[in-house]
Amino acid sequence: MKWSEGVQAILKQFYVEDSVLMKISEDMQAEFALGLERGSPASSVAMLPSYVPQLPDGTETGKYVAIDLSGKNLRLVLLTLVGKGVEPEVITHNYMVHESVMKGTGEQLFNFIVNCLQKFLSELNLLDANLPVGFVFSYPCELHSIRSARLLWWTKGFDIKDCLQKDVVLLLEHALEMNNSIKARIKAVMNDTVGQLAAAAYKYGPECCVAVVIGYGCNSSYLEETAKIKKFNASKADYNHKHMVIVTEWEEFGAQGELDCILTPFDREIDAASVHKGKQIVDKVTGALYLGELVRRILAQLVIDGLLFGAQPCERLDQPDSFPAKYISEILRDDESTSFKNSRRICDELEVPNHGSSDYVIIREICHVVSQRSASIVAAAITALLKHMGRDRVKIGVGGALIQFHPTYHQLLEEKLSALAPDGVEWKIVAADEGSAQGAALIAAVADKIQL
Ligand code: BGC
Repeated sequence: MKWSEGVQAILKQFYVEDSVLMKISEDMQAEFALGLERGSPASSVAMLPSYVPQLPDGTETGKYVAIDLSGKNLRLVLLTLVGKGVEPEVITHNYMVHESVMKGTGEQLFNFIVNCLQKFLSELNLLDANLPVGFVFSYPCELHSIRSARLLWWTKGFDIKDCLQKDVVLLLEHALEMNNSIKARIKAVMNDTVGQLAAAAYKYGPECCVAVVIGYGCNSSYLEETAKIKKFNASKADYNHKHMVIVTEWEEFGAQGELDCILTPFDREIDAASVHKGKQIVDKVTGALYLGELVRRILAQLVIDGLLFGAQPCERLDQPDSFPAKYISEILRDDESTSFKNSRRICDELEVPNHGSSDYVIIREICHVVSQRSASIVAAAITALLKHMGRDRVKIGVGGALIQFHPTYHQLLEEKLSALAPDGVEWKIVAADEGSAQGAALIAAVADKIQL
C-alpha cells in the first residue's frame, strides 16, 4: 500500500529498529541485575520478592477461591481441583470497578471487594466454608511474607491515597471482619504475573518459568534462585527454599530516559495526561489502558491534517478515552474480504460524519503499527529476561486483556523475539489464557499443601 506522505510520516515514528530494541534490552538486563543487588543504587526495575517458593505441579486438590483486582475488573473465581490429569472445575464472576472507587478511599475499595465476594459465595452456598483464598493485587507491593503486601504505589489509573504504604491484606481482612458473614481466609497475596505464572506452569509444566502479562499494564515474573536475590535475607525472613518467584515490575523501566528515543509526540501527550506522569512508560507504550488512547490521538491528528474522514471534524474523536483498546483488535480482524464491517461500525459508534474504505485501511495500519511497537518492546524485555536467567529451555506464559482477543499480537511477538532472543536458548511463547485468577487459587493450594 502506498501511503500519502503525511500518513507515512506518522507511521514511521512507530517503527523501532532492532538495534534500538537490542540496546533497550541490554539496559533492561542491567536493571534486572541491579534490582536484585543489596545496597546498590536503586534500580528503576524493582525485582520484588513474592515469597512463592514453588509452582503448582498438578498434585493439588480441593476447593480454592481467587480474588483478582486487575485494573478496572474485579474477578472472583472458585476453583475445584481433583488431582493430576483432571481438568479443574472453574466458576468465574466479573465485576466492574467504578471510576469513583478507583480514586476514592481504601474503605470504599475493600468494602466493594468484600460485598462482591459475599454475593459470589452466597450464590454458591459457600459463605460458611473455610476456603483458602489467593488474592491477586496487581500493583507494585513489597511483600513481607506470602500473606503481607505493602502497597508501594498505584499504577493503571488507580489513585487511592489512603492505601499507600499499607498492607493490603490487612485492609482486606479488616473489611472481611466488618462484613462478618464470610468464613474464607486469605492464604496468599500476589501480583497478577505470579498468578499467571502459576496457571501457565500448571498447564505447561516446569519449563514454564516466566509469565508476561500484557493487560491494562505490562509486567513479568519468573522463577529465580534464592541465592541470587542478594537483597533478600533468607535466614532473617525464615525462608528455606531454593527458589522464589520474582516480580520484575519492568513497567517502571525508562525512568532514566532509556525509552525516550522511541517516544513520539503522541506518547508524550498521553504521559502528560496520565494519573502518574513520567512513570510506567512501558505500560504506556504497550498496555491496554493506553493503546486505544494512542490510536485515538493519532486519528484525531490525521483528521486535523486533512488526511482522514474527508477532513470533516469528529467531536467524539477529540474526547479522551473514546477509543477503547478492544477496537484495535476488532479493526485488525477486518479487511476487504469482511467489507471492513468492524471498522464501519466503530466509525459509526464514534459518530464520524463521513467514512469509507480508504479511511479504514489507514486506521487498520495505525492499529497495526501501534500493536507492533508494543510487541517489539515486550520482545526486547523478554530477551533481557532470558539473558538474565541463563536457562537453556524456557516456556513463556503470555496473557492479558490486550492480547487475549488480538488477532496478530502473538505472531508479532514471536517474530520480534526470533530476531532478538539470545542464541542457544530454546524458548517458546505459550498462551496463558487461564489468567491470573485461576493461578492465584492454585498458589493458595500450593501454600496450603506446603503449609506456608
Ligand atoms: C502494575 C503491575 C502489573 C501490570 C499488569 C502494572 O501497571 O504495576 O504490578 O503486574 O500492570 O497488570
